[in-house]
Amino acid sequence: MSVTNTNRAYHLSKSLFIKGLKCHKYLWLEKTRPELKDEISAAQEALFQSGTDVGTLARDLFPGGVEIPYEGLSYAEQLARTAQAIADGVPAIYEAAFSYDGIFMKADILHKTVQGWHLYEVKSSTGMKDEYLDDISVQYYVLNGAGLLLTGASLVHINNQYVRQGAIDVHGLFAIQDITARVIKKQPFVTEQAAAMRSMLQADMPCIDIGPQCTDPYECMYTGYCWQHIPEHSVFSLRDRGVDKFNLYRQGIIRMEDIPIEQLPWIQRLQVEGTLYKKDHIDAAAVKEFLGTLRYPRCFLDFETTYMTPVPLHDGTRPYQQIPFQFSAHILDHEGAQLRHCEFLAPAGSDPRRQFLESLVEAVPENSCIITYNSQFETGRLNNLKEWFPEYGHRIDVMIENMVDLMLPFKQKSVYLWQLNGSYSLKDVLPVLVPELSYEELNINNGEMASNGWLALVQETDPDKVETVRKQLLEYCCLDTLAMVKIIEKLKEINPPEA
Ligand code: SF4
Repeated sequence: MSVTNTNRAYHLSKSLFIKGLKCHKYLWLEKTRPELKDEISAAQEALFQSGTDVGTLARDLFPGGVEIPYEGLSYAEQLARTAQAIADGVPAIYEAAFSYDGIFMKADILHKTVQGWHLYEVKSSTGMKDEYLDDISVQYYVLNGAGLLLTGASLVHINNQYVRQGAIDVHGLFAIQDITARVIKKQPFVTEQAAAMRSMLQADMPCIDIGPQCTDPYECMYTGYCWQHIPEHSVFSLRDRGVDKFNLYRQGIIRMEDIPIEQLPWIQRLQVEGTLYKKDHIDAAAVKEFLGTLRYPRCFLDFETTYMTPVPLHDGTRPYQQIPFQFSAHILDHEGAQLRHCEFLAPAGSDPRRQFLESLVEAVPENSCIITYNSQFETGRLNNLKEWFPEYGHRIDVMIENMVDLMLPFKQKSVYLWQLNGSYSLKDVLPVLVPELSYEELNINNGEMASNGWLALVQETDPDKVETVRKQLLEYCCLDTLAMVKIIEKLKEINPPEA
């Protein structure tokens, strides 16, 4: 396909430059065909928003500065305001605008020292990443080229050891790494790349094939466009570790039916044979062994949590800890007993942790066999709760000890049904194994949506809307645990009932 670039007046911005470093085609599409971009998911939106919040909070490290707004001002006006702020002798500038060599940029924080200005780039991650060095290097290139007297450049990132107590202490929440030497070393690379990108933008869409760059270090926003030639069942559908997928792709092996099956480890072979020949795999002995680990009372348990936010939400919590706000428990007290259901959903706007734990301890029968799907998640949250409420330590330890992971028979492929396409997630296993139950009808139907629902509850003031979202959250979490009950029933059908 030949798409010609008609607008030749190309300028770069810092973010475009970074995209161009990832893939020239990404930059070209962004400048020329932005309408081909994928839709942004709710999780990406939340991540973007949390990055903005972190950037604003970090300004308190260098108080008394002046912000150069983006909204409502042209580039020229932003540049003029920045120049004015410098002339006024302000101690810091937030979102300072500069332009050099056709590259426009906004610096998160510029701090004035006796010797000159120090650049600070704020990231919501917990440490240095290679791509940050590129980001800061291009900013240094522009600032230096624009004639600003620079003393150095640093990364400001989240300190994951920070524990919130009361109001956020920005000096505890953030860590600063001076990377001036590395940034200076990168300057010739930036000059070269800027020239290469500008020349590329003068031509037709670059002929760049899909590759690891599409998802590493983050997913490109044009995969929907660039990957449209990949069929539904392809070499890229292969799950788990195994062959190098791009190596096969470069050899022209794209469709699943063309994959040399003998090169695959057995788990991927199961997937290919399952998809191509509708072949299931059941290891009845392994299923029996798994079912043998279950005892009564049985408690099918599932937690919902907040997003992993860089700024801790409550006292005693650290950055990126997920806060449990909801659980569902289906309980079978003994064999043949009537299934009972208990649930908890914290009132919005509160710190949900203590109420969550107290309700959980009350709901889960002592010493019961706790069945979860992907136990690592619930175990992690229980360990967090133990840290916050050590008085419940013993009870929590017992819960963790008594936990059985229903995901294992599916992950280890003791049960593999061809419709799963290599997946072992509950959302995929349920409709295949228990078609009468499905998440499809639910307004909230995955964990990400549940985290988003909680966020909506925290922000919503209309009681009717609050009620609707609460109902949706309860329905969703309830289905997660009912699904596990039904899956066990199906596994029993594979195996004799004495299990
Ligand atoms: S999807 Fe991949 S090939 Fe396409 S623009 Fe993005 S990184 Fe480049």
